Amino acid sequence: MKMSKAEGCIAVIGCNNCGKCDNICPYGALQRRAGKVSIDHSRCTVCMKCINVCPVKALVYVD
Ligand code: SF4
Ligand code: SF4
Repeated sequence: MKMSKAEGCIAVIGCNNCGKCDNICPYGALQRRAGKVSIDHSRCTVCMKCINVCPVKALVYVD
């Protein structure tokens, strides 16, 4: 369960399904199924690791 923190979350906007973010999340929060990337916000710690690998900046931090 995500701790109560004064921080935002990761959103997926404009993903082209390249697969570069596969297995990048150390917490198993980022999953790609049937061409769609989703973030499990109960697992995501907002570590930002995935944001840095996406070539089209489809993974964005939302305040
Ligand atoms: S921000 Fe970190 S914890 Fe959240 S989905 Fe991306 S890699 Fe995983
Ligand atoms: S790296 Fe970016 S464009 Fe590629 S599958 Fe992941 S979110 Fe989509």
